[in-house]
Amino acid sequence: MSKRDYYEILEVSKNASKEEIKKAYRKQAIKFHPDKNPGDKESEEKFKEAAEAYEVLSDDNKRARYDQYGHAGVGGAAGGGGFGGGMNVEDIFEHFGDIFGGFGGGFGGFGGGSRRGGRHVSKGSNIRVKVKLNLQEVAQGVEKKLKLQKYVSCQHCNGTGADKGTAFTECSTCHGTGQVTRVAQTFLGQMQTSSVCPTCEGEGRIIRTKCTHCYGEGMVKDQEIITVKIPAGVASGMQMSVNGKGNAARRGGVNGDLLVVIEEEENQELIRDGNDLIYNLYLSFPDAALGSTVEVPTVDGKVKIKIDAGTQPGKILRLRGKGLPEVNGYGQGDLLVNINVWVPKNLSKDERKIVEKFTESPSFKPAPDHNDRSFFERMRSYFES
Ligand SMILES: [Zn+2]
Ligand SMILES: [Zn+2]
Repeated sequence: MSKRDYYEILEVSKNASKEEIKKAYRKQAIKFHPDKNPGDKESEEKFKEAAEAYEVLSDDNKRARYDQYGHAGVGGAAGGGGFGGGMNVEDIFEHFGDIFGGFGGGFGGFGGGSRRGGRHVSKGSNIRVKVKLNLQEVAQGVEKKLKLQKYVSCQHCNGTGADKGTAFTECSTCHGTGQVTRVAQTFLGQMQTSSVCPTCEGEGRIIRTKCTHCYGEGMVKDQEIITVKIPAGVASGMQMSVNGKGNAARRGGVNGDLLVVIEEEENQELIRDGNDLIYNLYLSFPDAALGSTVEVPTVDGKVKIKIDAGTQPGKILRLRGKGLPEVNGYGQGDLLVNINVWVPKNLSKDERKIVEKFTESPSFKPAPDHNDRSFFERMRSYFES
């Protein structure tokens, strides 16, 4: 892959001043920052490219060699020295130390998380909350206000941990590397061991004066009220992720996420089956025999349905579109009314007499049509729908 011209990458002229180069790089870095473009490979490449260009053009020696010999002069083209191995994002964060050190505000001090030697930018932990929804809320979607006790970025130091107006100094123990190397003589020869620098806890730099508000942590415990919009049609166990609304990270790293786990309250009348709802309707014997109009509950109030004379138990009435919406917004389930006929358990003497009269009536003799496949068809249509 042929490399692009460094001046072109930063969009500056060949005789740009150091200040102009710095400014141009800052602009590019903010634009293509991975946190602003999560998962975007092209932005990440541009971000790296800009960092590489800055690394060369901000250094008088390297810039002079680049001007004279091009990429070969700084080892880029050969792939050997310089950037041949490719910079990783962590390396690039190093730049933010000098570039953004003074700009605590907008950038929240990425420098705090910048590490050398394969260490990473600190990330705040995720917060998981359960949200209980009733059937109406599931059907319509709902906005929930969540009161969270969490770590938020310290306002007094913009999350840097350094007191206002003070900055950082390079750690003198590890000279900014965050690691200390010990060389020991053993019978096998020299053994080198690296460990996290005890002075700066691996950060490579030390806060001159710690923020008194957060004791140098860059974050404080606080309460935050977050409004989350839950779409219609969600179900128990579904999880929504709200980016960056979790705990703040120590000293200006990247916020964790807020994970909202859905839990459904059981409804007394309507049973959920995917996006369909099932209602068990009990008809009185006269209503089933004579036909009637009865009320059934739905998620948005009661509706009246007509029962034909001679309706048999086991019949399923489908009320189209009276179920729950699909969570992606396409389609809507039905309400299935499952018909049962209530057979009286206790009869008075008079009632008994009346019912006994019917025993001889041919209309009351069961006469199911055994060729009637309606039951199987009902089941099939039910399962296929
Ligand atoms: Zn150190
Ligand atoms: Zn603070």
